Amino acid sequence: MKFEAHLKETIVLDPKNKTTRAIPSEIRKDPLTGRTARICHFMKLKWEKPDFDKMIAGTEKICPFCPDKVLSITPYFAEDLIPEGRLISGDMVLFPNIAPYDSLGAVATFGSRHYIPMTEITPELIVKGFRLAFEFFKRVENSKHPESVYHIINWNYMPVSGSSLIHPHLQVFSTSSAPNLMRQELDAAYEYYRLKGTNFWDDLVKSEESEKKRFLGRAGRTAWLCSYAPIGVAGDVLAVVDGVRCTLDLTDKDISDIALGLTRAMAAYDRMGIYSFNMNFFTGAKDDDFTRFHLLFSPRTFFNQALGTPDVGAIRNLYNETLCMAFPEDIRDMLAPDFIF
Ligand SMILES: [Zn+2]
Repeated sequence: MKFEAHLKETIVLDPKNKTTRAIPSEIRKDPLTGRTARICHFMKLKWEKPDFDKMIAGTEKICPFCPDKVLSITPYFAEDLIPEGRLISGDMVLFPNIAPYDSLGAVATFGSRHYIPMTEITPELIVKGFRLAFEFFKRVENSKHPESVYHIINWNYMPVSGSSLIHPHLQVFSTSSAPNLMRQELDAAYEYYRLKGTNFWDDLVKSEESEKKRFLGRAGRTAWLCSYAPIGVAGDVLAVVDGVRCTLDLTDKDISDIALGLTRAMAAYDRMGIYSFNMNFFTGAKDDDFTRFHLLFSPRTFFNQALGTPDVGAIRNLYNETLCMAFPEDIRDMLAPDFIF
């Protein structure tokens, strides 16, 4: 596996004595897509947690996902897809997304609790939420719906990540239209397979597992590692599941292993003062032998916490060029103690 980086250096002078200081930065190339990621703005990965009581106070009163409202406010699916209207598992509810960005979109709540601190999200809770989403995917698949191609779970946890609500929930959708980065990865993995005759993700995991610099650990068929060219400012945690092409190939054991690893990532980033993240599934279609199911867990934080400056600025928003404030290999060393399975 070829990991390319372009090393750069900036020289600045001290205004008083004109002594020089060299500031390093690095432009890394994602080994699959060639997407570039800058490792720069080096700083200690440490943020202050806010006063959560103050942040949360009163938000439950207008929360549509709280138990007193969720069943009266949220809509039903069309009867040919889900005859009972919504899917329910204990206190978790899955219903149509009323702000759809595709034709088959759902939202699944994580139950009746309005605020669940990141460190109180258990593997069992994630498994239960994911299983509810999988029930939706199976209904879509069984209905032979034309959108039953890519089955995706996304998670925005807490407002910093883009969540408009405190109440924990998942974005669940089935689509024939792969989102940008997923489509670029699928195209690149197909090309890699065509040219080399091997699967990029299998090769990546093999290389990272033996090289160890970014490898975190393995639970069952799921390998956990830090991305070489991360999207998040505090790095990304990548999980790749061996032998799995698409979401519906995942077994109950895989889902449990994934849930466990996600809670380990949450615990590790919590120690840095991070309390928000995005998590996206990246899946192939069911016969896409050239790819492997993987997911990205990307912590979200601030460039300036006091001002509430988000960690996405012009360079990321309009160029889609990412910045990471530490070397992924150092981030790996910070996270690794949590990834002993
Ligand atoms: Zn709520």
